[in-house]
Amino acid sequence: MNVVTNDLLLPSERERILAKAAHFSPPDYVLPDGRRELVGLNREELITEMEAFGEKAFRAKQLWHWIYHQGVRDFSAMSSIARPLQEKLAAHFVVGRPEVATDQLSKDQTRKFLFKFRDNEAVETVYIPDRQEDRGAVCLSSQVGCTLSCRFCHTGTQRLARNLSAAEIVGQFMAARDAYSEWPSPKGDTPRLLSTIVMMGMGEPLYNYENVAKALKIIMDGEGIGLSRRRITLSTSGVVPMMDRCGEELGVNLAVSLHAVTDELRDEIVPLNRKYPIAELLAACARYPGASNARRITFEYVMLRGINDSEAEARELVRLIQGLPAKVNLIPFNPWPGSTYQPSTPEGLKKFAKIVMDAGYASPIRTPRGRDILAACGQLKSAVETGIA
Ligand code: SAH
Ligand code: SF4
Repeated sequence: MNVVTNDLLLPSERERILAKAAHFSPPDYVLPDGRRELVGLNREELITEMEAFGEKAFRAKQLWHWIYHQGVRDFSAMSSIARPLQEKLAAHFVVGRPEVATDQLSKDQTRKFLFKFRDNEAVETVYIPDRQEDRGAVCLSSQVGCTLSCRFCHTGTQRLARNLSAAEIVGQFMAARDAYSEWPSPKGDTPRLLSTIVMMGMGEPLYNYENVAKALKIIMDGEGIGLSRRRITLSTSGVVPMMDRCGEELGVNLAVSLHAVTDELRDEIVPLNRKYPIAELLAACARYPGASNARRITFEYVMLRGINDSEAEARELVRLIQGLPAKVNLIPFNPWPGSTYQPSTPEGLKKFAKIVMDAGYASPIRTPRGRDILAACGQLKSAVETGIA
């Protein structure tokens, strides 16, 4: 395979991906009554909005603080703004949240929300508390459904309805924070329950790059939510042309859904491989800006019994990732209604993990969380379609 030729094609491929994403654009942020949604605007847009409203730029700074640092939704609680202006703002704008359609708690304390948006589309968002400490990860969705059809993934059976807007992505996190009363935004090292974000919910984040990037920049802004890029991990099934942009512009941690060590098998279980095969994917990982031994790339590997979990495949895996600052997350397969694969046996998992570990790579076996409420990796799907709700 000619990796060089393909690098030259990357800019045009990138254009194609962005143009396709535009076909699945989210609806506008104006409500039927004409009020505009402020969540999801970046700083520049908020300034423009305030100026168009006849206000000075510093109003945008104040609003930013109330919306993203204090978590306030009600203009009348924004005490640094005079009452008449509060009323004027409330007549023209809203600070919204997605609606909680369902809220389920697993016996292991993992919590799954089904969030419904204004057009009635919905996604699932999962909070996975750490079992030892007062912190945890929020798993955000980026799309309603997914265009890719990875064979082992429940989301992959739901066709793509549309992309989520930046407001809807940030909104999932803000609504999860509401549920744990984690406002105002904890600063610096203050303990926080919702301490990390993983873009590992429904959808392929790099197929909705613009909205995901905008949302993550809002979340990382130090005067608002202020979550550092080190606490954010974006998982991709391997959209090679967007990976470098993600590294350069966002600098978040990267996780790559590898799942197979030959193109033959990966073509079948992660069909995107037919477009961006393993060698190209690994070349993009090697180029990923910011990857280092301190900030390793995570390779995700779902363990499917008798499909991809042999010892020979473990050895091939370490050969493939040799030289990359990497760790390997072994994910026991999480079944879902209608799935055909079997999880690897515990012995199979351990043997595989040991080979990877002996080669010098951390190889944690991820404990499935929230399986009883279908909240574990790969089990998410808008309940509307599954009929669970
Ligand atoms: N679309 C992105 C992110 C969402 S999926 C991606 O594919 O990377 C998050 C992780 O769960 C991915 O590594 C995905 O391959 C994995 N996954 C999907 N279905 C799974 C299942 N049934 N059991 C375990 N992991 C699964
Ligand atoms: Fe989409 Fe990721 Fe599921 Fe594949 S694993 S179908 S890319 S959500």
